[in-house]
Amino acid sequence: MKHYVNGVFETSGTAFPLISPVDGRQMGTVPEAPREVVDAAVAAARGALAGPWGAASTEERCAYLRRIADGIEARFDEFVDAEVADTGKPRNLAATVDVPRAIANFRAYADLSYGRPERAHHTRVPGWSGTGEALNYTVRRPLGVVAVISPWNLPLLLLTWKVAPALAAGNAVVAKPSEETPSTATLLAEVIHDVRLPPGAFNLIHGHGAGAAGEFLTSHPGVDAIAFTGESATGSAIMRAAADHVTPVSFELGGKNPALVFADADLDEAVEGTVRSSFTHSGQICLCTERVYVQREIFAEFTRRLAARARELKDYGPMISAGHRDKVLSYYRLAVEEGATVLAGGGAPSFGDERDGGFYVEPTVVTGLPETARTVREEVFGPICHVAPFDDESEAIRLANDSPYGLAATLWTGDLSRAHRVAPRIEAGIVWVNCWNLRDLRTPFGGVKASGIGREGGEYSLDFFSEPVNVCVKF
Ligand code: NAD
Repeated sequence: MKHYVNGVFETSGTAFPLISPVDGRQMGTVPEAPREVVDAAVAAARGALAGPWGAASTEERCAYLRRIADGIEARFDEFVDAEVADTGKPRNLAATVDVPRAIANFRAYADLSYGRPERAHHTRVPGWSGTGEALNYTVRRPLGVVAVISPWNLPLLLLTWKVAPALAAGNAVVAKPSEETPSTATLLAEVIHDVRLPPGAFNLIHGHGAGAAGEFLTSHPGVDAIAFTGESATGSAIMRAAADHVTPVSFELGGKNPALVFADADLDEAVEGTVRSSFTHSGQICLCTERVYVQREIFAEFTRRLAARARELKDYGPMISAGHRDKVLSYYRLAVEEGATVLAGGGAPSFGDERDGGFYVEPTVVTGLPETARTVREEVFGPICHVAPFDDESEAIRLANDSPYGLAATLWTGDLSRAHRVAPRIEAGIVWVNCWNLRDLRTPFGGVKASGIGREGGEYSLDFFSEPVNVCVKF
């Protein structure tokens, strides 16, 4: 692993080990960026804005984005291998979601930005000051140096989801991937180097968060905006650091996402959909369902079938680290202490092969907890869901909304009127009806309450990564 600063790869800083979540073995080392490397990256980004990158037209920037997408595609298998090695996720997931979405992120923002119209406002009435008429038009200017900080669960997908629109809008980027999954970010830097993006337009630094590279970056006076995905508690810490320089933030944070299953739903689809939404990537996706509310008439049948399917799951990946495995298992124990009935899983599996040195936990279904239980309120970020009954629509909405989080929700119903009635009343940024994680990259993506600030996706990201400047020309 190397830092990439001002177009040069380098390895300053002490090295820390990169551990495989599959078998617990050390795979390599990662350099920890000291403050000087972070300073150099921010200075390089500032320099790029004053050079050819700052002078590049939108069309030229879009051409770079397309070349980066092509460059990832040309090394597709290497990216898949690296993502699988770092995260332990099933190969199929990395090959059908993570890497294709990274390519799509660059292409989508090239498409969206190319020829994006500026907004004009023809004001033909006297201005407030009564001094005449004017034509107002609004141009968008990049924010400047943008810090991008990303988590370990979808390392390349979430990094490129920010880097692509930031570059499309004309910013220079300093990115820090999670210390636990640095590999695909390093490959991305190689691709960016190979397409000859002007030096400093994209910089990559490795290292930890609090008291280290992450914090050096988010508290840096030379950073003009921070785009962060990760835990809500980290978001709070970054917000405090950003406050000193009034740095704008875009936050995609944690979730405790509900699924509402109504008695009129297609039961097969609702069960399979909930298996996917609770257990994909072993529950380590911010959009995963951890609270399932089922209408009482079908509660027993739904719960029995969901638990049976959870017990059948075999091809699942590990938790990202020993620490995260221990955290998830501590919630499994807490659920029992809080009075849960465990219908599936509840512990660590035994495979009888090298995976027993890795960080696996069983897909778990529990029931019987009060809404006040910590297991029902706190984000576990593992393959566990709690299933509880409800009687009517208003109770379902109340239960869904009774959470400090508000990222995503899923409704399962055969009644379209009900879907339209309920969806807008859910306190979440995204509500899926009879599906989960079906994504159009132009739609707003983000959460309310402790789940985030702002929206990503399409125009929303381009708006965050640029500043509107109104030009008023007097007639
Ligand atoms: P995390 O908050 O521990 O770390 C995320 C990143 O922040 C890492 O790069 C880390 O090094 C850095 N960091 C940590 N402390 C920092 C600090 N004080 N200053 C600056 N940087 C710091 O999150 P994680 O464990 O990597 O990821 C899992 C979390 O991310 C879950 O809560 C999950 O819900 C959330 N998530 C949210 C979304 C979303 O779109 N809303 C998507 C994926 C993950």
